[in-house]
Amino acid sequence: MDFFQSVERSFDKAAQFTKWENGILEQIKACNAVYRMKFPVRIGDTIEVIEAYRVQHSHHKLPCKGGIRFSEAVNQDEVMALAALMTYKCAIVNVPFGGAKGGIKINPRNYTPFQLENITRRYTAELVKKNFIGPGVDVPAPDYGTGEREMSWILDTYMSLRPGEVDGYGCVTGKPLSQGGVRGRKEATGLGVFYGLQELCNIKEDMKKVGLEPGILGKKVIVQGMGNVGYHAAKYFHEAGAIVVGLIEWDGAIYNEKGLDPDKVLKHRNDTGSITNYPGATNLKKNTDGLEMECDILIPAALEQVIHKGNAANIKARIIGEAANGPITPEADEILNKKGVIVVPDMFLNAGGVTVSYFEWLKNLSHVRYGRLGKRFDENMNIHILGVIEDLTGKKVSERERKFIAHGADEVDLVYSGLEETMHAALHEVREIMVGNSDIHDMRTAAYVCAIDKVGAAYEQLGIFP
Ligand code: NAD
Repeated sequence: MDFFQSVERSFDKAAQFTKWENGILEQIKACNAVYRMKFPVRIGDTIEVIEAYRVQHSHHKLPCKGGIRFSEAVNQDEVMALAALMTYKCAIVNVPFGGAKGGIKINPRNYTPFQLENITRRYTAELVKKNFIGPGVDVPAPDYGTGEREMSWILDTYMSLRPGEVDGYGCVTGKPLSQGGVRGRKEATGLGVFYGLQELCNIKEDMKKVGLEPGILGKKVIVQGMGNVGYHAAKYFHEAGAIVVGLIEWDGAIYNEKGLDPDKVLKHRNDTGSITNYPGATNLKKNTDGLEMECDILIPAALEQVIHKGNAANIKARIIGEAANGPITPEADEILNKKGVIVVPDMFLNAGGVTVSYFEWLKNLSHVRYGRLGKRFDENMNIHILGVIEDLTGKKVSERERKFIAHGADEVDLVYSGLEETMHAALHEVREIMVGNSDIHDMRTAAYVCAIDKVGAAYEQLGIFP
């Protein structure tokens, strides 16, 4: 079964729990526009024909939103499936975008930065030609093999082809700060993973079902992948008082039931080239053994399909947070559901990145940094109120408290606050669907139902053209 079909299968499983007629369901599932392009780029002495895609899965809300990946594995099926997942992900976290995805079929390691720049700029020009990019049309972002650098090239190409477009900076997100990026974007996905799981752990009934105490404090956590998402997730769990007992990388895994400090492990990795042989921790025989060690929460944050029918039964965690995309195969998912493990699905849990991209887009459209207008006013007001309280009570607060109370919100404070609110609200929306329907036993199906209902309602409100 290909990737797009497997997304459709999960969709169909959930669709039976919704009220929508078949025609609407078919419309929600379908990719609205698929743009496959081939363009020439001079690479050294030769001209290479580059294959690339941009798929807009859903126009029920505009602009469309989704990353661009540079990978040799890019093909139409994969881009279509990832675009569809973006539609559902945005719907679940109430980000008002349709889903999209782009891909260029290259291995970026085979090209110099100059050649990559030419490829990226030409790809952007192709998107502009067909009106497949723009702040109100379709807004790309980073994905595998792309980052701030590529987003800057896209922005610059767009702006030079559409001079004077006042909202042009909103044509792409994941930009560096100097180019209209937003503070907090880098850690957004890992922090979103933390916020989502933190809120789940606060729900007494759900914790009781899996035999755990409510709260994050003292929970034993294992994280696979110490990259952008995994490192930040581990760091926030550690800071909140969870015990990060295990960390897993491609070349080994370490375990210490007393806990590991992710920052110190990262430093050790940077110094020695590996997380293994970390002082005080035990090296595991195989890195994948780490997935099966004793813990409360397992967070796969590296690759797809790492939990499969061969190891699912051995997993000890009571909660699995899918920080990576697709880390659990459908067969493993069934095994884990039968074991009563709570699987928190990727479509919800790793939506922190797109949520903060939405904040970046809003910042670009408003042409002002978050907090610029209100910060100083709030600080003055807070200091004034504090002064009045101190006068009335005759008591003084400590310097630490004074600093905390006086602080007006910076951009990063507002981004974190918006992300926390988004993840908490979305978790409860998905959970309510499970609680309200005794035939829905897993959070993944509930997440799909949540997404289908929102996109279906948007189509209903839009009306269908005759
Ligand atoms: P990354 O490249 O920064 O990190 C991946 C890490 O996994 C690296 O440290 C790598 O060494 C490690 N790794 C590779 N093979 C491994 C193996 N066999 N076992 C254990 N570790 C291994 O990537 P990332 O941005 O952190 O993304 C991780 C996952 O999260 C991907 O599935 C990605 O699609 C998903 N995701 C990322 C974002 C984002 O904002 N970055 C958003 C949504 C979803």
